[in-house]
Amino acid sequence: MDMTLFLRNIPILAYHKITNKIGWGINNVPVRFFYRQMHYLHENGFRTVSVNDFLSGGIAEHAYRKKVVLTFDDADVSVYENAFPIMQKFGFTGTLFVITDFVGKKDMWDVNPVGRHSSQMDWLQIKELVANGWTVGSHSISHRDLTSLTTTELYGELKGSKEILEKELNIGIKTISYPFNRFNSNVLEKAFEAGYEKGFILGSSHFQSETKPRLAIPRLGIYLIDFMRTFQSKLAGNKFEFFKQNIISRFSYGSVLWKKIFF
Ligand SMILES: [Zn+2]
Repeated sequence: MDMTLFLRNIPILAYHKITNKIGWGINNVPVRFFYRQMHYLHENGFRTVSVNDFLSGGIAEHAYRKKVVLTFDDADVSVYENAFPIMQKFGFTGTLFVITDFVGKKDMWDVNPVGRHSSQMDWLQIKELVANGWTVGSHSISHRDLTSLTTTELYGELKGSKEILEKELNIGIKTISYPFNRFNSNVLEKAFEAGYEKGFILGSSHFQSETKPRLAIPRLGIYLIDFMRTFQSKLAGNKFEFFKQNIISRFSYGSVLWKKIFF
């Protein structure tokens, strides 16, 4: 695995929902946990940098003592309601990966046999984050498994979501996070052709060191099961945390299979 990003001491963390509601799986991080994590970052001299800047050289290497990238997949409204105000308090900004078909709607793509579906941010809420320094990237149009699509469908998901976001938000969209963390060399190639400069995955991948390394940049997810000790070892880019993440990512693919079988 290419650890370039961690060698530069820029951990990239991935969240989904910041909420006290109980969810299916481990994606719901309770608000008080999130507050503690942000407080820890602040107390320890971390500053957030955007996904657009952290590899561009636009940031002076020694401008900040420690840097972190905070990303949020799916644009859940709990990120707007709970994470955004806490991050503002500490002067942090994040990156939101948006599913364009679900803006302002319920997360009906998600397998959720037990709980209620939660809402996605609407365009006004997303625009407010952008106005406050947040970055937006694509999380596709419909949150389908990109590796299962025809070339035309795949290109539509990649290019289409980019165009919708650019039109609605009037900003350039250069980054993508792949739904269900499902990708292969074809997806990375098409993402590049569609105009993405960086793509984000969960865990590590051999693609990271191959032809399109910037289209498969490793992140570590923060989950319900993370307490301060594992949060700290994720910040440090601990290899065992990557190992754990790769296992969690495989299990989350279970929800794709579940959906194929039962829906
Ligand atoms: Zn997602």
